[in-house]
Amino acid sequence: MTQSYDLIVIGGGSGGIAMANRAARYGARTALIAAGPLGGTCVNVGCVPKKIFWNAAHLAEQMKMAKEYGFDALEPHFHWEYLKRQRDTYIERLHDRYAQGLDGNGVVLIRNHARFSGTHQITAGDEVLDAPHILIATGGQPVWPDIPGAELGITSDGFFALETMPRSVAIVGAGYIAVELAGVLHALGSDVSLVMRRNHFLNDFEPMLRENLMDAMLHQGISLLAQRQVREVEKRADGLCLHFQDRDCLGGLETIIWAIGRRPNSTDLGLEQANITTDPQGFIAVDAFQNTETSGIYAVGDVTTGPALTPVAIAAGRRLADRLFDAQTERHLDVQLVPTVIFSHPPIATVGLSVASAQAQYGEEAVKVYQTIFTPLVRAFSAEPERTAMQLVTVGREEKIVGLHAIGDGVDEMLQGFAVALRMGATKHDFDDTIAIHPTSAEEFVTMR
Ligand code: FAD
Ligand code: NDP
Repeated sequence: MTQSYDLIVIGGGSGGIAMANRAARYGARTALIAAGPLGGTCVNVGCVPKKIFWNAAHLAEQMKMAKEYGFDALEPHFHWEYLKRQRDTYIERLHDRYAQGLDGNGVVLIRNHARFSGTHQITAGDEVLDAPHILIATGGQPVWPDIPGAELGITSDGFFALETMPRSVAIVGAGYIAVELAGVLHALGSDVSLVMRRNHFLNDFEPMLRENLMDAMLHQGISLLAQRQVREVEKRADGLCLHFQDRDCLGGLETIIWAIGRRPNSTDLGLEQANITTDPQGFIAVDAFQNTETSGIYAVGDVTTGPALTPVAIAAGRRLADRLFDAQTERHLDVQLVPTVIFSHPPIATVGLSVASAQAQYGEEAVKVYQTIFTPLVRAFSAEPERTAMQLVTVGREEKIVGLHAIGDGVDEMLQGFAVALRMGATKHDFDDTIAIHPTSAEEFVTMR
């Protein structure tokens, strides 16, 4: 027998859980169908376990610096297995918390794989459900390279499953995951090579950020291999060997991590039953209100082309619930000024336009850039201190700030407040007119000349 709901949500990750809970709180009879563990990518193989490892790496760096502050030399031994156990226990607690939250809001949770069996009908195992509103929030998965021996490597999912710390690692890729995992593994003691097919990594970001990060990584001892197209992986007696197109190779590797992007989970959904098509990469097209091409069917998060970030998926899901079940008819997500942090070492914080994008949008004459680079006080005793760099991109006579970019100690925790200021339309004058907090690195944002 078909069970009828007001809303069916497919996918128990960031976007799906957010929408299901909010819709149910408005009184919508809601079913959430989840194939994987609750919390999806972010909680299980993304933001949360990554940040726990980043915290460990950060502690390792602080311990190195402690000597400069008069502490006896600390030579701690890092126990990967212990941290993994702690992390897994914490994630299990999150699973319970999500299940309780859904239950408390009256969301019916179905643990199965969902497929469309009609335009507004879903089959999950033996159950058949229908609803006038259906949300697709099925997220994505890592891309594997199509080369011989690719299966000898792992993706970020495999990284989080590692039981021991790899001694020597090659990470192939040039985006968020590649630079984040390279920084973590190096700080915890692995020998790390980062393999890029172009000259740089983070090619979609303000160049000032990647230039400073590349300098910092080289200085830390991470090997950056540019202009390398991978051709094959070979298993040899001394470890894995990564062959490149130009025939040189990198051998003696214990682990190879593919970090070459992610693809949407849209192939096994029966989308044709709902008359929904995807682009060649498999992404589902939505308008600014998350509507797909079929009325009453919506998509949010990594299965769409929007920024693949947890808070974006959550915000899109909640706003959609506000629109459909609380009569907030114009409520939708504005993706103009999405702040983001890359948890590299040091971290990167960025919101808004790069210099080049601002110039392209407003004309070169209209853009004025302020920047600073300095040694943060915490590094005052280092022989070769890691520097902090900051940049403000302004436009027009009023010098409205359209881009804010930073790399250095603590910038990850600085960005959120500045993102509010940018959304409110802050100008350089507003920044200058704000009293600085001394001594901090953040004060440089309001004292830039
Ligand atoms: P997901 O969270 O992926 O959830 C989708 C769920 O749907 C999954 O549980 C899946 O099992 C389920 N599903 C799929 N198909 C079906 C089906 N047919 N039936 C039922 N269920 C199905 N973002 C940040 O903002 N900050 C970070 O620091 C950050 N770090 C990251 C680190 C890594 C290594 C990775 C991989 C990602 C990171 N992200 C980060 C991105 C973030 O995790 C994603 O943007 C976010 O999880 C997307 O949420 P979602 O709801 O779209 O999909
Ligand atoms: P990204 O899309 O960020 O980067 C993938 C990179 O892989 C590209 O920059 C591309 O480099 C490179 N690449 C693609 N194909 C190949 C290939 N065949 N060989 C070598 N390099 C290749 O993907 P990620 O997997 O790093 O992350 C996915 C998304 O998850 C991110 O975009 C982000 O939205 C989210 N995320 C967010 C985090 C955060 O908020 N801190 C952390 C981690 C992930 P090129 O420039 O050379 O084309």
